[in-house]
Amino acid sequence: MTIHHLVETAPGTAASGDAGRLQALVRRDQLEAVRGSVLTAIPVNMLLGLASVLVAFQSGHGRAGMIWYAASTGANLLRIGLCRAACPGLVLTAETAPAMAAAASRSVEGHLRASTLAALLSGLVWAFLPLLCAGYTSPQTLFYLTITCGITAGAVTHGTAYARIPLSFIVLPLLSVAFCLFAAGGFDRVCLSACVLLYLAALSRTAFQSEAGFREASRLKNDATALARSRAEAQASANALVDEMRWRATHDDLTGLLNRAGFIQQAETRLDAGTACLLLLDLDGFKSVNDVYGHQTGDRVLVEVARRLRAALPPGGLAARLGGDEFAVLYDPAATGLPYETLAAALIAAVAQPFDGFDEARLGVSIGVHAEPEPDLMAMLSCADEALYASKAAGRNRFRLFDVGLRDRLEMRRDLERDLSHALVENALEVWFQPIYALDARTLVGLEALVRWHHPRLGWIAPPDLIAAAAMAGLTESLLRFILDQVCRMMQILSVQGRGTVRVAMNVSPREMAQIPVDEIVIARLGALGLPSAQLEIEITEETALDLGAVQGKLQALSRAGIRVALDDFGIGYSSLSSLRQLRADRIKIDRSFVTGLSTCDDKRGLVLAVLGLGNLLGLEVVAEGVESQEDLQTLQAMGCPFLQGYHLGRPMPVQALETTVLVAPQAAVA
Ligand code: C2E
Ligand code: MG
Ligand code: MG
Repeated sequence: MTIHHLVETAPGTAASGDAGRLQALVRRDQLEAVRGSVLTAIPVNMLLGLASVLVAFQSGHGRAGMIWYAASTGANLLRIGLCRAACPGLVLTAETAPAMAAAASRSVEGHLRASTLAALLSGLVWAFLPLLCAGYTSPQTLFYLTITCGITAGAVTHGTAYARIPLSFIVLPLLSVAFCLFAAGGFDRVCLSACVLLYLAALSRTAFQSEAGFREASRLKNDATALARSRAEAQASANALVDEMRWRATHDDLTGLLNRAGFIQQAETRLDAGTACLLLLDLDGFKSVNDVYGHQTGDRVLVEVARRLRAALPPGGLAARLGGDEFAVLYDPAATGLPYETLAAALIAAVAQPFDGFDEARLGVSIGVHAEPEPDLMAMLSCADEALYASKAAGRNRFRLFDVGLRDRLEMRRDLERDLSHALVENALEVWFQPIYALDARTLVGLEALVRWHHPRLGWIAPPDLIAAAAMAGLTESLLRFILDQVCRMMQILSVQGRGTVRVAMNVSPREMAQIPVDEIVIARLGALGLPSAQLEIEITEETALDLGAVQGKLQALSRAGIRVALDDFGIGYSSLSSLRQLRADRIKIDRSFVTGLSTCDDKRGLVLAVLGLGNLLGLEVVAEGVESQEDLQTLQAMGCPFLQGYHLGRPMPVQALETTVLVAPQAAVA
């Protein structure tokens, strides 16, 4: 909105403030113009004065002429001095602060008043011109009349900016002419006197009109300047907004580092320009910091990690927070002379430094490095991700380079991801069952469902790889439903055979447990098929407790529905006694690493005994997995281990094989 608009449309304080400012700016312009016009008019004034003195000399009025000219020169010098005097008001602009603007405006008004008085003084001197021509009666009258008319007309013509100055200058000389002519008498002189008065009136009118024109032009000019300025300001703020939005779209709010989108954008141009090395970082133990100390501390840690990362970044390198506790660094090892090993070690050391507010060594970082050019950034990211995954699996505070071994693994995973959906549709997947026996090693008490996939090219796929591929391909739920269906079929077979007490166990990975509504799916399926929930067991691992918030409700629902929960691979994780309770376990399955070969290893025996004692104490059933030999079996039986599972007792097998062996004669499993 322009100043003019404000003046016209808004009578409020802001509007009147702007109107006052506009008025002051117009006044400033008037003073500037007055100074210019006075300085150009004065030489002419001096010349005409000189001519008047010369004529006075010639007509015998030399002395009076000299005195008059001295007075005129004095007045002119005063006017020049005033024009040259410093005036703070002349620096007034639309942006001047209000307090300074008021002072500036006062000084402008003061200078205009002084110039008006000086013009009046100068006019007064010219009003004494009749002294040089005997009151316009001498023969030089025509000369002096012409000079007076000329100088007054000139004053009005030049002084268009501020009418009071030319008027102050012309009124007295012209009145003195009119008076003298009238006093001299005679028809023509009296008529001329009247004409001079008319002339004075006309000049006055012209002076006021000129000033009005000048003021309007000045107002329009200042208004246009204000408009241009407000446009420029609007443009600048629009540009700032665009910059801000661009920044937000490409940067992480919390840490100020690039976000994933910004990183991809910038990294792509770097990759085009030359070789680059990518490091993917994932904090170790960040989740527990968040859980134990709260999200605010978690945020502070992320900000601090970002700061340390920036500090360790080689020149020209990029650092980004890709999300959660995952960061990325891209740099050029050739240009910086910094090998990736050195940088990775520096980053690990930087994160290992203590953080304010919690114990040392709680936080670490795992790093995956990819140091070879790839056709595109996405390929590079997935290679570095594979290396990061391997590094994490190897333990905390390590880095791992993406090498040939990892490339093979990545390609295999990609093949698996690609082929798994077809395999599911074409029923290429199978579920095998491994028997679980009672202490006598003859009475079948359970079957564990284990998924199997024979890939046409890659052969048998290890179940954990299959589960991971399903997660990557977004098929976790489909796979779970497929396995559940096979488990239900087995429960139906057992019921038909009158073996309703044989429990069927299915494995559910921590990720499955956390990400899909396992409880709803399982309970609904059992309900739909009319199967007894007590016949089903869900095997979870200790890692499930890591995301207790996401799984606790589901485990409760399963437990309430009468479905049993077994804690698988017990002993290799880091479960606490409280997690046994929180996970609602009814059963623990001792990991086979403690069972296989226990007959010859005191440590293992001690551990198994301890777990058996714990089971007794907490009222939990205990299963020993990985019984591979007769000796181990006997040792376990001697210890009183109530449930037994292992190759020695029965390998996992397809349903048909199970039906023709294990399920034919329940007591015939082991001789
Ligand atoms: P797990 O649940 O602990 O299953 C037992 C694993 O030990 C099975 O391996 C089984 O074949 C193997 N095993 C049984 N007895 C012995 C023995 O005496 N000696 C040796 N060396 N191994 C024995 P498998 O089938 O390769 O499964 C590996 C893991 O993959 C399973 O460990 C389980 O965590 C996971 N898994 C298998 N099937 C499924 C499934 O359907 N869903 C999910 N989520 N995970 C599954
Ligand atoms: Mg299991
Ligand atoms: Mg196990």
